[in-house]
Amino acid sequence: MVNVGILGATGMVGQRFIELLDQHPNFNITALTASQRSAGKRYEDATTWYLDNKMPESVRDIVVVDTDPSQVDDLDIVFSALPSDTAAKVEPEFARSHIVASNASAMRMEDDVPLVIPEVNPEYLDLIEVQQKNRGWDGFIVTNPNCSTIALTLTLKPLYDRFDIKRVYVSTMQAVSGAGYNGVPSMAIVDNLVPFIGEEEEKIETETLHLLGDLEDGVVTPASFGVSASCHRVAVVDGHTEAVFIEMEDPADVEEIESTMADFTGLPQKLDLYSAPKNPVVVRSEENRPQPRMDRNESGGMSVVVGRVRQDVAFNNSFRYVLVGHNTIRGAAGASILNAELINEIL
Ligand code: NAP
Repeated sequence: MVNVGILGATGMVGQRFIELLDQHPNFNITALTASQRSAGKRYEDATTWYLDNKMPESVRDIVVVDTDPSQVDDLDIVFSALPSDTAAKVEPEFARSHIVASNASAMRMEDDVPLVIPEVNPEYLDLIEVQQKNRGWDGFIVTNPNCSTIALTLTLKPLYDRFDIKRVYVSTMQAVSGAGYNGVPSMAIVDNLVPFIGEEEEKIETETLHLLGDLEDGVVTPASFGVSASCHRVAVVDGHTEAVFIEMEDPADVEEIESTMADFTGLPQKLDLYSAPKNPVVVRSEENRPQPRMDRNESGGMSVVVGRVRQDVAFNNSFRYVLVGHNTIRGAAGASILNAELINEIL
């Protein structure tokens, strides 16, 4: 078994890590960290548990420690669910001697840090060697993208490999759990919609192109089509919905678009990794799907569900579809765990 720790274990994403790792066949939780507010308390006392499933017995009595490498020992991998500013300071300290699989945005766009979706760009893990050489670390940091970007890019990858994409417009309707436990006050979101999520649009626009780029001689050249995002917070607990508009250079038909997405698989499926869904993208045919409450848990929350694929009659060679992805599973904790499973298998 590989001993793992969770940094920021008491938060929204930290709780998902605990839920997903509790019965994991290869990873064994041995350390939980959080802020100084929580350090020294039993996990059960430090955490406001928000998940439907009960807090696993195995973590209730673990004493939460401060998020500092000197507070943990005998760990192989640390999963980070820290706020970005804390991650920027602490993750490099852990990476001196640990593998860090991070959800935070702090290090994502650093030149020598792999930003990876295992089905999309596993080859970016080659940057690990560059990073260790540049920074003199025995460990390393691997990051997963922003929650909306992961769901969008999983659907774009098979299309990008087959068609010439000219432009993508995406409008998101994002769940409140994406903002963390204290993120959106109920008075701001009930009976309402908030048409702004700080830095989210920029993240989608840059990370998507980075993920679909090319790695050559240790340098990523991003894909060059246009991506434009508009992001909105809605009164849904879990599951981001995205309305996607794609303009392509050449014509295609709806069936081709649907089957290209539905048939998509990648390295995690080939290697039969524990958290890999059989189908990363599930295409539904009902006119009123996908919906977050009904579709976010597809394949344990690891598949993105697509529906309403249709030709856009207003523009040439254009299509529209709607997707739902689970923001704290495929969009966060599950994404990091899949990265770690891939690293554990191939490095
Ligand atoms: P959250 O619910 O606010 O949890 C934050 C965690 O970090 C808590 O465990 C908190 O511990 C700890 N923490 C806060 N300040 C700290 C400090 N100064 N030192 C050490 N630990 C500290 O946030 P979240 O939604 O889980 O998000 C975690 C990270 O994942 C963020 O970087 C976020 O952008 C990213 N992310 C989130 C989602 C999502 O859907 N939620 C998706 C993708 C990526 P205490 O309980 O002690 O305060």
